[in-house]
Amino acid sequence: MTLPGPPGVPPWLAALLNYCSRCGAPLAHGPIPNETRDRLACQNCGFIAYVNPRLVVSTLPVTPDGRLVLIRRGIEPGYGLWAQPGGFLEIDETAHEGAIRETLEETGYEVEPTDVVGVYTRPQAAVVVIAWAARVVGGQPATSEETLEVRAYAPDEIPWAELAFATTTWAIRDWVRLRHPTVGHPPATDDHARWPGGSA
Ligand SMILES: [Zn+2]
Repeated sequence: MTLPGPPGVPPWLAALLNYCSRCGAPLAHGPIPNETRDRLACQNCGFIAYVNPRLVVSTLPVTPDGRLVLIRRGIEPGYGLWAQPGGFLEIDETAHEGAIRETLEETGYEVEPTDVVGVYTRPQAAVVVIAWAARVVGGQPATSEETLEVRAYAPDEIPWAELAFATTTWAIRDWVRLRHPTVGHPPATDDHARWPGGSA
């Protein structure tokens, strides 16, 4: 049974929010005293189930000769398409540590994040993605069960039509725009949720 979910929550996520995680009674969506918006809450024990996005930590690894390392994904979503290395932050690590770990797992490269290229929100997927520019400082390219291919692209060779996610396109476009302003990139028509802003 799926109860009417909160507005803005993707259906796949709302389907996981039917019951109170404290007492097991059904949750209901509605007004709660002292809350500024409607919430999911337990009618039995009063527990409020806050629904928040998850944080994805990622890097844009740059090789010593200035190429951008991308992975071809071996898992859904986005199977067979290209993305920057990244994944969900674990509860016991800093965002910086998580980005380094995910990059090593997915590419075989050790990286040092340098600066944040952007922070990207995608409510449809309930995620916030941080993308750091990063220096490749060690390791060797290696595939894994989650990665079909690891490849370093020159800034003018980015496979724009084969990128996995909107947030991938936004992050790489910002990297190209900021670091290689003479290189062409797709127009910014769909990125109301990105930071930094500005025309591209
Ligand atoms: Zn409860």
